[in-house]
Amino acid sequence: MSAIDTLATTLAPYGEVRRDEPLARHTTFGIGGPADIFLTVRNASALATAASAARDADVPLFVLGSGSNILVADAGIRGLTIDNRARAEVADSTGLNYRLESGTSFAAFARKMCRLGLDGLAWAVGIPGTLGGACVYNAGAYGGCLADVLTRVRLQEPGGPDSWVDATSLGLVYRGSVFTRGQFAGKTVLEAEVRLASGDSKALMAQAAKHDEKRLTAQPRGRNAGSTFKNPPHHPAWKLIDEAGLRGATRGDAAISDKHCNFFVNYGNARAEDVAWLIAEAQRRVREQFGIQLEREVEFVGAW
Ligand SMILES: Cc1cc2nc3c(=O)[nH]c(=O)nc-3n(C[C@H](O)[C@H](O)[C@H](O)COP(=O)(O)OP(=O)(O)OC[C@H]3O[C@@H](n4cnc5c(N)ncnc54)[C@H](O)[C@@H]3O)c2cc1C
Repeated sequence: MSAIDTLATTLAPYGEVRRDEPLARHTTFGIGGPADIFLTVRNASALATAASAARDADVPLFVLGSGSNILVADAGIRGLTIDNRARAEVADSTGLNYRLESGTSFAAFARKMCRLGLDGLAWAVGIPGTLGGACVYNAGAYGGCLADVLTRVRLQEPGGPDSWVDATSLGLVYRGSVFTRGQFAGKTVLEAEVRLASGDSKALMAQAAKHDEKRLTAQPRGRNAGSTFKNPPHHPAWKLIDEAGLRGATRGDAAISDKHCNFFVNYGNARAEDVAWLIAEAQRRVREQFGIQLEREVEFVGAW
């Protein structure tokens, strides 16, 4: 029996185990080859146990949120992919502080807070993804970001115990953190706490509706992973790509959206390598024309 087979058997009590699961089914791009083991967990304790089991078995681990900021290789992901659907939430006695499992849908939670008249997350109603993913990138929009409300996170150390750490130790910046900079490599966010303020439900719902409207107008429908590149200071990435002549450029079924040039879309059966080619082409053309290096916001994952 291989280490993968043994691990798949060990993990059965902690969730639903699938073998060779196509990741295209689990990413907003609709792209990605198979995961050797794909385990769906529904609570933070199963997430922690499964992550430890992978480390003990010396099998590579990938924690998947909603797959809304990743481009998974056509060859897929080796080892264990944990599909995190741990979504419990508890409010404290003040009703302003929430403790949430990391698989909580960030957008759904943000919308619920607006409905309840709790202020702090109206900007987040249209951001797909889990709270775990939002911690990794310090998700943000319309002048707000997670760092504004995040107080602490419960982390699992590779092969060690889990512990709560203050949000200030996550080094949260524009679409980045100690996770994206590799300093917390291998650590898993199990839970997080956010602090909200009392507000007016009607006003917050109106703000959320305004943000929904803006997204609907500016962003393409269909399969994509949001903004492909971070915006360089003073230069929106979409504008640089547009001026480099790449609006609507295609490669196979992959395209640079003609509605918003920082969105790369899958019109059907795009391959990861097609999207990666367009990404490299946009970087090359912008570098040559403007001397600016576009930095990817979308993360390449798996066996490239
Ligand atoms: C249409 C669209 C619009 C978008 N708009 C915005 C926007 O306005 N602002 C914005 O910031 N982003 C936006 N995004 C990008 C994306 O939604 C966010 O980056 C989101 O926070 C990613 O979360 P996820 O759960 O999907 O992460 P995934 O894509 O599943 O994973 C991303 C990375 O996070 C890691 N990760 C996930 N969960 C955990 C965990 N529990 N512990 C440790 N690591 C973990 C993964 O291993 C991976 O490295 C948009 C995406 C789409 C498709």
